[in-house]
Amino acid sequence: MSSIDQAISIKYNNLVYELKATGHDIITLSLGEAFFDIPAPDFSGFDVAELHHYSHSRGVPELRRRLAKYYEDRFGPSVDPDQEMIITAGSKAAIYMTLLAVLEPGDEVIMTEPFWLSYPAHVRLCRGEPVMVAHQESLFDLERHITARTRVIIINNPNNPTGKVYTAAELDHLHALATRHGLLLLVDEAYNEFVAPGTAFVSAAVGDPERLHTVTVNSMSKNFGISGWRIGYLIAHRRIVDEVLKLNQHLVTCAPTILAGYLAGHFDELISRTRPQIQQAVAMRDTAAGWLADAGIETLPGEATFYLFGSLGESSLNSDAFATRLLRERGVCVVPGIAYGESCDRHIRISVGTESPERTRRGIAAIRSLIDATRT
Ligand code: PMP
Repeated sequence: MSSIDQAISIKYNNLVYELKATGHDIITLSLGEAFFDIPAPDFSGFDVAELHHYSHSRGVPELRRRLAKYYEDRFGPSVDPDQEMIITAGSKAAIYMTLLAVLEPGDEVIMTEPFWLSYPAHVRLCRGEPVMVAHQESLFDLERHITARTRVIIINNPNNPTGKVYTAAELDHLHALATRHGLLLLVDEAYNEFVAPGTAFVSAAVGDPERLHTVTVNSMSKNFGISGWRIGYLIAHRRIVDEVLKLNQHLVTCAPTILAGYLAGHFDELISRTRPQIQQAVAMRDTAAGWLADAGIETLPGEATFYLFGSLGESSLNSDAFATRLLRERGVCVVPGIAYGESCDRHIRISVGTESPERTRRGIAAIRSLIDATRT
């Protein structure tokens, strides 16, 4: 465990909860979710007596069927909900269990910076080696990082923290690498709904409809605005799903039955409620990108999600020192870029999913003023 740190984003958010509890007003640009107006759950009409108990350890069958239909309607490739899907207690668990199922000690997993911050920890917990690729490198040069020990390439599409959406050409390239070198392509699509209507989002399974080398992980946390419910899922070839199933059975048995049952019954109602709010969050990102540009703060390219990855420009501070001072001195919380890889220590993640436009603007002004106050 000595090689594993706390998840930096969660560490900062815990600090925010503590500061708020002691009466501090914190502009919170650090949360990994958008807040939506959704109805309080109403379980009338459900067979609650059944939902109080364990379910099938692949997940409540009605929710698997509904998710398979969602996937097929949205992206094309069909999914067998009985063989090629498993519902997990959050997608975090799905990623970890997939890696645990496929990695031997010492196996390498390639991830491009900025990666989602739990990937290296997951790999290390599986006794694997994360191979981190600096953000300045082109995806088309990834092959030079592949060795005899490489087993998996993992990406997050759309990306947290930049908002980048992978192009069809980039995904084709990754599929070609996976095929040529016998690798698994693990694609985390937790933010797939957070894409503006004009942006083409291609799910990874489109380039590998038989799922020979692709594992797609997704979550209801972000798209349905229910991160606390802990419902995620993975779609993969049955040979992988059957291995993950064993882990799921021994670790958690099944994802929370009552919540999965509720989501199966209210799927359409919830997603039609969150979709317009998701579009508002993506539009807010656009607006905030404009404010950052006006303030002379550059961001890495991206257009989806509610995250922006802003440069520290002329500040002399590293990202952790900057985020700490921003929180302590100016009451604004962001996540330091170092959480997303060594090459990202000159950046901070700014999340615009939870604060009002006015407070977001004040937060950006505070970032600008701390950069100015700490110039080299
Ligand atoms: N992937 C990414 C890229 C995320 O940002 C998150 C949550 N911040 C997750 C996975 C995990 O989500 P959950 O476990 O709630 O499904």
